[in-house]
Formats: sequence, structure tokens, C-alpha cells
Amino acid sequence: MKHLTWDMDFRPEADREKIFGGLVEGRECGDCSACCTHLTIRTPEFQKPEGIACEHCANPGCGIYEERFPVCREWQCLWKHIGAMPEEARPDKLKIIFSLQRPNDPPHPFAKLYIGGWAFDGVEAYGTELGRNLIAMFSQGDLPVWLSTPDGLGHLVHPEPNIVDMVTERQKPKNKTERKEAKAWAAGIKRQL
Ligand code: SF4
Ligand code: SF4
Repeated sequence: MKHLTWDMDFRPEADREKIFGGLVEGRECGDCSACCTHLTIRTPEFQKPEGIACEHCANPGCGIYEERFPVCREWQCLWKHIGAMPEEARPDKLKIIFSLQRPNDPPHPFAKLYIGGWAFDGVEAYGTELGRNLIAMFSQGDLPVWLSTPDGLGHLVHPEPNIVDMVTERQKPKNKTERKEAKAWAAGIKRQL
């Protein structure tokens, strides 16, 4: 499997509005600039690699805020959209950026549109109480959830492996419930194309 992408990009913009609604009122980035450092940007106007602070970072904030690039105006992490994520889940505090990702070249059938967790300071962040609670919250939904791994490949934590095997026809459903669940995921993935 190829590496997952952890991008700041335009592609999931419409999906994000549709799935999560607008931004949480009054929720500001404040001192956080996690996305400006830890995500990859590859837009026509601006590119930067993952893990390197953008040259325009003013710590905190953006040194070219008024003239920042279109992607910087549009892109938002999920903490800005989901009121149920507490203040401590702001990415610079949690050390995880949760975002909606839609890679150009999905490396897996369940990676066309997914919630990605990027633990930029190490995967230990997933084991904190809040990290675990948020992963459990996202895993109740009908979008795949991938978490970053140190090797960059990513780990699919939702849905369960047996669902993946049924959808990819490596395993047959054992009963009606499994068949129904696999069918629902297969339809969801088809809609995400
Ligand atoms: S990671 Fe989220 S909260 Fe932090 S600067 Fe980016 S959009 Fe703002
Ligand atoms: S231009 Fe500003 S908003 Fe965009 S990545 Fe750089 S620091 Fe962040």
C-alpha cells in the first residue's frame, strides 16, 4: 500500500460543508498553526512539504494573512467544524490534526474520502483519553477513519477489517447483518467517487 496523504487542499471542501456543516461559531485558530507546519501543500499557487513550517508562519499566525493563498483561506481542520470536540482538541494541544482527506490517487478503496488523524508529534497522542474518545466518536460515523503511522502508511481503524474484506470480496458475509453492513459501506464508497 502507498502512503496516505495528509494534505491541506481544496478537494474535500464541499464534502466538509455537507457532512459537518459550517464552522463552530467563535472558534478561532488562536495560537495554533499546526496545519501550516505539519501538512503537505501542493496547490498551483503554493507548495510545501509535510513537517516543515511554512515560510510565512509568524508564530503565532500567518505573516501574510491578508494575502494568504486560496487554500489557506478555504482549508479547515475538523476541530473548527465540530462543536463536540473540546478546546483541548485544538490540534496544537492534542498533537493530532483531524481532517477530511480526499486524495487525488487513493491508495486503498477505503481511502477515497476519509477522516484522517495525523499525530504529528508521535502516535502516543492516540492513546490519551481525549485521543481515544475522539477516535471512538469518529468511528461511529459512516466515513472511514485512518490514523497516521510512523511509517506513513496509515492504519484503517474504522470500519472493522471484516467489513473491508467483505467489500473487497476477500471474505463472504456470514449472515444477513454482515451482508447489510457490507452493502451499506460499498454503496457509501461508490457515492464518494
Ligand atoms: S490545525 Fe486547525 S486550528 Fe490549527 S491553525 Fe490549522 S485550521 Fe486552525
Ligand atoms: S501562507 Fe500563512 S496560512 Fe498559509 S500555510 Fe503559510 S503560514 Fe499558514
